[in-house]
Amino acid sequence: MTEAPRRLVLGVIADDFTGATDVASMLVRAGMRTVQVIGVPDGPVPEADAVVVALKSRTTPAADAVRESLAALRWLQAGGARQFYFKYCSTFDSTAQGNIGPVAEALLDALGSDFAIACPAFPENGRTVFRGHLFVGDELLSDSGMRHHPLTPMADASLVRVLQAQSRGKVGLVRYDDVARGEAATRECFDRLRAQGVRLAVADAIGNDDLKTLAAACAGLPLITAGSGVALGLPAVYQAQGWIQPDAAAADLPSVGGHAAVLSGSCSTATNAQVKHWIEAGRPALQVDALALAQGQPLAERALDWARPLLAAGPVLVYATEAADRVREVQSTLGAGRAGQLVEDCLAQVARGLVDLGVRRLVVAGGETSGAVVQALGATQLRIGGPIDPGVPWTQVEGRPLLLALKSGNFGTVDFFDKALKQVG
Ligand code: ADP
Repeated sequence: MTEAPRRLVLGVIADDFTGATDVASMLVRAGMRTVQVIGVPDGPVPEADAVVVALKSRTTPAADAVRESLAALRWLQAGGARQFYFKYCSTFDSTAQGNIGPVAEALLDALGSDFAIACPAFPENGRTVFRGHLFVGDELLSDSGMRHHPLTPMADASLVRVLQAQSRGKVGLVRYDDVARGEAATRECFDRLRAQGVRLAVADAIGNDDLKTLAAACAGLPLITAGSGVALGLPAVYQAQGWIQPDAAAADLPSVGGHAAVLSGSCSTATNAQVKHWIEAGRPALQVDALALAQGQPLAERALDWARPLLAAGPVLVYATEAADRVREVQSTLGAGRAGQLVEDCLAQVARGLVDLGVRRLVVAGGETSGAVVQALGATQLRIGGPIDPGVPWTQVEGRPLLLALKSGNFGTVDFFDKALKQVG
């Protein structure tokens, strides 16, 4: 028997950087060889079962998000992808203008399709959807910390209402009652909704079995829109269709040796706890201060001078992480945008310097921070390895002996930094 050539099965368009890594991790975990690219590359689609295009389109103007997402779609289509996945945040981060609705509708139009689900559920991380309402842990989304998010405050937990406000077409609901009855009942529900003119349907899911049911029910649809959760069910669907052979080595990354470090530019609750845990364990840590950066102090150079003699003895942490009240103070002086940019530029410069000093394993906390670091390191393609915690895998900069773990702010256990670094040599 000759083995059929591997062709691209799934093309994913992710609206932010750590979100892209999250969904890629989900696919790798189930044996799909997955590559993540940063932005839409000029070259051909790399050889893999799934390719994830990481965009930065969550909070850009909707028209820009649509244009970039369509460019990613065309590139993935040229690579022969059989199904497409628009990945957004498990807390449905968006505004009344978008960008989930406008991008989903533009992708549907471009694919000549009339229906897709919308399901941010990720039960392993406490995100569940029931009766169209999104829960974060035991709280409704609108009662969670997300109601205070600086860019995408989520004040309404009804995703049907939220998505309808950003969509031209009709938004409906795939109720848990149908999902719980399995794939056929879920598909019948899709057909009923289509007959009513629904183009986007929020789908309930409270556990991994529901995500698998939804993935199976979407098998004939060109587009899935979801958080990373639904991707959990896709490899089994593709395997049943004979499109992939799960690869037990899909998550294998090489051993790279070298020094190790952590950079943290996230001020989320989980990251604050992780930084505190590291410092309380007596590990080397240096803080960079946004106000000092604004005064032109050369903090990146100072951080590198500090790190240089320490690296041989073990990993170091350079962080800008602060509690929310202190961040607000800094933002009121500098403006949120300027403060963020100063810190991102500084940490990006530290990242480049650390790699020059021989760091080969780097943990980065923060979505925007990760984007800045990856860009500074000139990484355009990441191979995805095994998970450290749900949603956060190790990755390898393609073709280079450099491993990166890019952690979205609120992900990871309190000992995440240590746990990540212990996993790779
Ligand atoms: P998260 O994933 O937790 O949202 P991000 O990296 O996406 O983290 O966003 C955090 C933002 O806050 C970045 O733009 C970062 O530069 C900025 N920032 C980090 N530390 C501080 C600080 N001490 N004061 C002000 N802004 C900060």
